[in-house]
Amino acid sequence: SAQVIDGRACARALKESVAAEIEQLREGGVRTGLATVMVGNGYSSSAYERRLRRLASDLDVTYFPCHLPATISQDDLVSAVGGLNAAADVSGILVLRPLPAHISEAAVFQSIDPVKDIEAVHPENAGRLALGVPRYVPSTAASAFHLLDSWLDSAGEDRAAFYHRSLVLVVGRSNNVGKPAVSLAYDRQAAVESVDEWASRTGNLGRHTRRADVLIVAAGRPGLIGPEHVNDHAVVIDVGINPRPGPGGRDRMVGDVDYEAVAARVRAITPVPGGVGPVTDVWLLRNTAAAARALSARAVDGARSGGNLLLSSL
Ligand code: NAD
Repeated sequence: SAQVIDGRACARALKESVAAEIEQLREGGVRTGLATVMVGNGYSSSAYERRLRRLASDLDVTYFPCHLPATISQDDLVSAVGGLNAAADVSGILVLRPLPAHISEAAVFQSIDPVKDIEAVHPENAGRLALGVPRYVPSTAASAFHLLDSWLDSAGEDRAAFYHRSLVLVVGRSNNVGKPAVSLAYDRQAAVESVDEWASRTGNLGRHTRRADVLIVAAGRPGLIGPEHVNDHAVVIDVGINPRPGPGGRDRMVGDVDYEAVAARVRAITPVPGGVGPVTDVWLLRNTAAAARALSARAVDGARSGGNLLLSSL
């Protein structure tokens, strides 16, 4: 049966390196701050916020949770983001989804300072990722490939050679997970294919997924991938997080993959919970530290060119 790719262990190791980066910034007089913007009261966004609060406190990152009413106008939300753009102690900004229907996600994303845009949702950053020159790699897709890369290292596989001969198949094409995952697979010189709901609707999902050497599933459909959808050498990364009623009336989280049945067949697999999720959270803080560094470099440059302007005007 499959090797289990341990997301919690991977997250712990990554967290240590992020802690060291944040510590080094602090020694240089740079503080790291994370702001989240939550509009209304989504169940999954408040759970995410709780996890980020804990992680920020562990890493000595200042956390600014910004809560806004579901009735807020788009203009007021854009102004609130503008306030965070201007705040010197905020390094990274994450706008939690979903936003209410009367607000255009694109308009809000465009209002984020691209240097503070740690999920790469601003068109400039999304474009850079698609061109293979990312400023920040969005955390969920980054986590999927960080787990893959780490697993390849532990399995003694040469990463470049592995990706070179592999077909990476991504199920799901959302802007925040599926499309970035496709870009990262291209960057690794793998053959890449992506499918969406259409493949399921037309009964073709298995025909595609069975060819995958690496199967990344981000559809948000529990049990979508069963043993009939995989081959025996596949490495399966399950991004899905779906609440299911569990014992005692409490929800438990399941992925998009029928874990037990698929694990019995494939080469390696990530569990849910304990797979992609924990690494995603730490990656966001990694991007926040990178933003803090970029902002301090920008401030130094700004002071320099300000000085030059002053000189040239004399
Ligand atoms: P989304 O709803 O925006 O996009 C889903 C994509 O899957 C779409 O492209 C859709 O066409 C496709 N899809 C839906 N049903 C399908 C089917 N039956 N067959 C094939 N394709 C199908 O969702 P998202 O934001 O990309 O998130 C996907 C999943 O990942 C969700 O379960 C979400 O909770 C989870 N998620 C996990 C993390 C993490 O850190 N682990 C982070 C973000 C999202």
